[in-house]
Amino acid sequence: MQIPKLAIIVPCYNEELCIEATCKRLLEIIDMLSQKSKISQDSYIYFVDDGSKDKTWEIIENCHNSNPTNVKGLKFIRNYGNQKALIAGLEGVRELGCDCAVSIDADLQQDELAIEKFIDKYAEGYEIVLGIRNDRNTDGIFKKYSALLFYKTMNMLGAKIPVNHSDYRLVSKKALDMMKLYPEKALFLRGFFYELGLNTASVNFDVKPRSAGQSKFNFFSLMGLALNGITSFSIVPLRIVSCLGLFMAVIAFCLGVEAIYEKLYLQNVINGFTTVITMLGFIGGLQIFSLGVIGEYVGQVYKEVKARPRYITEKELN
Ligand code: UDP
Ligand code: MG
Repeated sequence: MQIPKLAIIVPCYNEELCIEATCKRLLEIIDMLSQKSKISQDSYIYFVDDGSKDKTWEIIENCHNSNPTNVKGLKFIRNYGNQKALIAGLEGVRELGCDCAVSIDADLQQDELAIEKFIDKYAEGYEIVLGIRNDRNTDGIFKKYSALLFYKTMNMLGAKIPVNHSDYRLVSKKALDMMKLYPEKALFLRGFFYELGLNTASVNFDVKPRSAGQSKFNFFSLMGLALNGITSFSIVPLRIVSCLGLFMAVIAFCLGVEAIYEKLYLQNVINGFTTVITMLGFIGGLQIFSLGVIGEYVGQVYKEVKARPRYITEKELN
């Protein structure tokens, strides 16, 4: 087999504190792997600046100027979020050309040495290699448990996504080309690469604490990511809502029959305040919740129908 050309995609948002060290480290990895003839010498890093407001882009430009073959990148006109940056990276390297692409976070929390294992799996013929983290010790309590809840919910809803896999993975050119067939705007990458059904392997790796700067995710962005993941890969919540509706209707019908029976035959006007108030609260809550679930999907459809571009690029370094 010919020596593959690797592209390493790095989304970055306000990462001026760590981007230079990251660039240096990844260049070392490229060097090390190309010396072992596992990847070609023109393999490259592809930075996607997600509309940073600090010096991130200038640093990327400097890295590119001192090594144009191995450092490339693009800059968004504004912040679109990590998923869009990853998608742009995957599309960008598909255009620039590569045999396989790995995506990794700019803070190098994911063990960069695992890239070698990814490449080995790729050489064995796997089209997709997922990085699975060994533990979640570097995460706070909230993130740890919300992530667990998310994976459990997703799997229960039938959208099989691998547990403890964040967007650290290798995908082959074939997978990149298949992305073209999925024009949806809110592509949820973790579900998407599973959905393709390509030959998949996984590699375990350790997570380090963030090297510099702060996490760019907060409660709302994580919640948004989770909801997008669920609504773009499962319609089970809609089914649950319909089933609940049916179930409630059956109960209401039985209660109605009972009330009429008591009224007509037992002349016994029901002393049922508790029942009424409980049912009122319960059904009211359920209705609003159901509307919310349906609303999430309507929102998803709304965004897709508008067909706005996923992102707009301001500058490119090829
Ligand atoms: N990121 C991005 N756009 C955003 C938020 C984050 O491109 O709007 C990038 C960020 O620069 C980093 C990666 O996504 O490379 C993961 O972010 P972070 O390390 O802050 O997340 P955490 O490790 O805390 O989950
Ligand atoms: Mg991080």
